[in-house]
Amino acid sequence: MQQIGHFIAGKRVAGSSGRFGEVFNPASGEISGRVALADASEVDNAVAAAAAAWPAWAATPPLRRARVMFKLKELLERDRKEISAIITAEHGKVLSDADGEVQRGLEVVEFACGIPHLLKGEFTEAVGTGIDAWSIRQPLGVVAGITPFNFPLMVPLWMIPVALACGNCFILKPSEKDPSASLKLAELLKEAGVPDGVFNVVQGAREAVEAILAHPDIAAISFVGSTAIAETIYRGGTSHGKRVQALGGAKNHLVVMPDADIDDAVDALMGSAYGAAGERCMAVSVAVAVGSAGDRLVQKLEPRVRALKIGPGTDAEAEMGPLVTREHREKVRGYIDLGIKEGAKLVVDGRGVSLQGYENGFFLGGSLFDHVSTDMRIYKDEIFGPVLGVVRTPDMAGAVRMVNAHEYGNGVAIFTSDGGAARDFAAGINIGMVGVNVPIPVPMAFHSFGGWKHSLFGDHHIYGPEGVRFYTRYKAVTQRWPSGARRGAEYVMPTLGR
Ligand code: NAD
Repeated sequence: MQQIGHFIAGKRVAGSSGRFGEVFNPASGEISGRVALADASEVDNAVAAAAAAWPAWAATPPLRRARVMFKLKELLERDRKEISAIITAEHGKVLSDADGEVQRGLEVVEFACGIPHLLKGEFTEAVGTGIDAWSIRQPLGVVAGITPFNFPLMVPLWMIPVALACGNCFILKPSEKDPSASLKLAELLKEAGVPDGVFNVVQGAREAVEAILAHPDIAAISFVGSTAIAETIYRGGTSHGKRVQALGGAKNHLVVMPDADIDDAVDALMGSAYGAAGERCMAVSVAVAVGSAGDRLVQKLEPRVRALKIGPGTDAEAEMGPLVTREHREKVRGYIDLGIKEGAKLVVDGRGVSLQGYENGFFLGGSLFDHVSTDMRIYKDEIFGPVLGVVRTPDMAGAVRMVNAHEYGNGVAIFTSDGGAARDFAAGINIGMVGVNVPIPVPMAFHSFGGWKHSLFGDHHIYGPEGVRFYTRYKAVTQRWPSGARRGAEYVMPTLGR
């Protein structure tokens, strides 16, 4: 069985806490590895390595740090098949989807290649007579990332390229459910030229996270995961004086207007509700059918959900793989039971799926509920599985009220052929990321990603320009080189512009 340890000061290191977690192959249900669960002393070792490496890395010219990113891009492209296979083996998603994950992570590396330009700052000649002023952005020091199971490569890459390119050192605490991608990434960063100690991986769970929250030498934390933990991380980290961005859970709606192309909306719903078995923070889990769209939508969705091709992630024909763990599969199944009790109409029941040769895998078929109402828990809670609920509402105003009243505010989409309606919707909706005839509006790497309401705690969205702001501190410099007569002491408030 594979032993999965840490990566500290440029080397793989075995766990020393004596505590381990089990890692599964979700398709077979078998245990494939044992991951070390770090204690505070192992976190401390990683932070010490990062703190020691920081002064030299921060002093490395941004252009040279950018060249490391260019090299990293090349290496990720070289090894993308191997990386996709690592992701599929522990997460379960189909290989083509894992490849898409690598691609979206790579794009953040491409963004970070432009760091000399992004860190340029601003300059004003002559803010006063003979006085110039400029502003710069400087790195924070040692920063940490705590990441979820559902994108074991892409979410770490939302953080690491920007943090490192800005001149910080990084401690990654990946999900203990699929930890191997983090070690592959550590090796590629080293091969790309990242000096030892600049990037470290500490495997673990709650104990490791608590040590990160309290560590005096960690300046900032980026967290991505469920809302309850995001809020804990935000409160815990900020109470220790750290800068924190904590991205949480979601319940994303896709509003189908009566004038939408229904086939287009159905295609969008299939991919965004059932792709990655619904284990995406931007997955659509609620279809809001406006007016006459409802019956047509459900009629067209039903056969498509029944026809979903479910199989191990390594099967090139499969559209949807297993869920990540048995426990998570049971949780999602429990929500399907609950939806029936709550009075929603179960149009397609995915609970009975069993695959020949994979009877112990964590599979669940696609499920579809109709007549879901906003007081039901299957509407309110994030299920994070292949379950789509259809809610009906008479008009767009009702759809907007519903979306705005929901606890989460990650993503939303509207499908319509009316440009004016789409424009009003995008302007008035209280959601961080909006799609118009686009189902999963994940911003490209040169924009930034983040939700509103309980989908994000903190002031900064992640990666892109917001990422540069998060991982740097602003400094303003005002400079005068005295020449001629001394001016003597001045006791009034300096007013350079006069
Ligand atoms: P999770 O919250 O269970 O775990 C996230 C991280 O927190 C992991 O590294 C985990 O080890 C750690 N953790 C878990 N419990 C902890 C505790 N009690 N104390 C301290 N640390 C703890 O999330 P998950 O199940 O890995 O991922 C799925 C969730 O992540 C979903 O809610 C999904 O919406 C969310 N997510 C959000 C985004 C986003 O951008 N908003 C992106 C991806 C995933």
